[in-house]
Amino acid sequence: MDFSKRFGVIVVGGGHAGTEAALAAARMGVDTLLLTHNIETLGQMSCNPAIGGIGKSHLVREIDALGGAMARATDRAGIQFRVLNARKGPAVRATRAQADRVLYKAAIRSMLENQPHLTLFQQAVDDLIIEQDRCVGVVTTMGLRFHAQAVVLTVGTFLGGRIHIGLDNEPGGRAGDPPSNALSRRLRELPFRVDRLKTGTPPRIDGNSVDFSVMEQQWGDDPLPVMSYLGDVAEHPQQVCCYITHTNEQTHDIIRSGFDRSPMFTGVIEGVGPRYCPSIEDKVNRYPDKDSHQIFVEPEGLTTHELYPNGISTSLPFDIQLAAVRSIRGFEQAHITRPGYAIEYDYFNPQDLKHSLETRFMPGLFFAGQINGTTGYEEAGAQGLLAGLNAARMAQDQECWFPQRDEAYIGVLVDDLITLGTQEPYRMFTSRAEYRLLLREDNADLRLTETGRKLGLVDDQRWAAFCAKRDGAVSDAERLRSHWVRPGTADAEAVNPLLGTPLAHEYNLMDLLKRPEVDYPTLLGAVGLPLADAAVAEQVEILAKYAGYIERQQGEVARLRAAETTPLPADLDYGQVSGLSNEVRQKLEAVRPTTLGQAGRVPGVTPAAISLLLVHLKKTA
Ligand code: FAD
Repeated sequence: MDFSKRFGVIVVGGGHAGTEAALAAARMGVDTLLLTHNIETLGQMSCNPAIGGIGKSHLVREIDALGGAMARATDRAGIQFRVLNARKGPAVRATRAQADRVLYKAAIRSMLENQPHLTLFQQAVDDLIIEQDRCVGVVTTMGLRFHAQAVVLTVGTFLGGRIHIGLDNEPGGRAGDPPSNALSRRLRELPFRVDRLKTGTPPRIDGNSVDFSVMEQQWGDDPLPVMSYLGDVAEHPQQVCCYITHTNEQTHDIIRSGFDRSPMFTGVIEGVGPRYCPSIEDKVNRYPDKDSHQIFVEPEGLTTHELYPNGISTSLPFDIQLAAVRSIRGFEQAHITRPGYAIEYDYFNPQDLKHSLETRFMPGLFFAGQINGTTGYEEAGAQGLLAGLNAARMAQDQECWFPQRDEAYIGVLVDDLITLGTQEPYRMFTSRAEYRLLLREDNADLRLTETGRKLGLVDDQRWAAFCAKRDGAVSDAERLRSHWVRPGTADAEAVNPLLGTPLAHEYNLMDLLKRPEVDYPTLLGAVGLPLADAAVAEQVEILAKYAGYIERQQGEVARLRAAETTPLPADLDYGQVSGLSNEVRQKLEAVRPTTLGQAGRVPGVTPAAISLLLVHLKKTA
């Protein structure tokens, strides 16, 4: 049966990529359909109920700056908030929240249900409708046919998903959910490069069976941070304590005794796992000299006793899981509520995508999230937002948009995926960005909200809050620049103790704020000036302290922009570029970079090869 309404965009999958994609397309005024297996699992956190952390919070703030849902939902669901690297420079500071998974899902669902132009429908998608080599819709298990100008697939770990516990395995998209096998078979018929990855999750533990008194307590920060630029601590639910315990040598012996029944070590699992989030058996195997590994014991929510023991993800047989858990301090009587497991799934080589996340070989079809070889809610949400907005722009007959590497971690993420591909689950780190000082979590709004407003992603409330912060920072910096402190005055007497030495000559407050020993509230307090709003004060302080470095990075960006934006024709015949080695030619042909800058980041493409390309472009211009 054909569904009569024709949509602008269809999004398949209601996980983190799918919900951001659907919300973004609908915010832009495009009629959008979100099709998902089960409406009850919209926004479900498959693994750890936590959002943010190093590199990841930068993505969350960027999603937020573009009007997305993740940070807003986190503020409503977060039961513990901390700023990591708080004492380090602003580039690597990162907010992390432990979330109540029920509240998180409820917040996402409420945003979806209240979003104009968005329709929800519960059905699995089994097939794509392809007409004249273009994707124009989807077919569900019931045979319903839905048509649209663009389709975004965000089906996570579900394609050909197989769950492993010890040597037993069974089909599954994640615990309790069916896999998407029909869709996986259909996609494998198309000319995409497909491979397998794996990820894992720890057993969950009943908090009633745990002795917290022998564990180290870990409380959240005071004052409480917020995740969204529109966030308010008053939205946060009750805050709770997390705990820390450790594995020990006995735990490691038990784990080793299960190696012969490990699906990873016996070759049953072929997919590559996340290097930066290894299973406990992987850690014990790789670091035989380490006699202990840290475990963060994190509550799953306010209305459950279930705990998430962060650090012991495993696919070992259940008897080994239970014995290993009970060998850990505080877990001696632990009851496991859900076994840990690993999941293997299909992912598609992201080098077959454009920067808009449209697939190269199938116009109208976009991929976002775990399907592209990434891991993590934040990475998925960021791609979902980008794919959703570009699918909407396609439906509106507009050019695609994507941020550059110097504008956003989203730009870094997508460019890395498309240029380098990935052979293991890709996660974001601040070290992946060349311009870290420009891409801070505190200024994602200053980097992206104006563009988001132009794209139709940012509503009036966010726009007004943004303008107040942007204009407030400019006028507050001006206020500080025009307040002079002169030797011998009462102001100087108040400021000298902060500096450790008496002022030699007059300085304005902005200059004084550059000094590492001086901070904004203390300095303004000393001279009796009122403090600006916290977000404004933070911007002014960063601007004062890091202006030199920031300007240097901006200069570098301007120099590289010329190469970055020099386009390479889509049909460029690399065989005609004289002097190019066969190896470099093949690499460029495989990636088909769209700009000279992207070509320079293809592994194995040398600066000399870039010069040859430049000469060729000039000759053929
Ligand atoms: P998902 O969140 O998986 O959402 C996919 C959605 O698509 C679901 O709603 C599903 O029902 C729907 N769907 C699938 N097929 C169809 C279809 N044919 N028709 C309709 N709907 C469909 N991340 C980390 O950062 N660290 C970890 O340690 C980690 N461990 C993990 C362990 C496990 C066992 C799992 C399953 C995931 C883990 N993750 C981890 C990954 C994290 O859950 C994902 O990165 C993130 O959820 C991906 O978001 P997504 O939107 O791409 O997909």
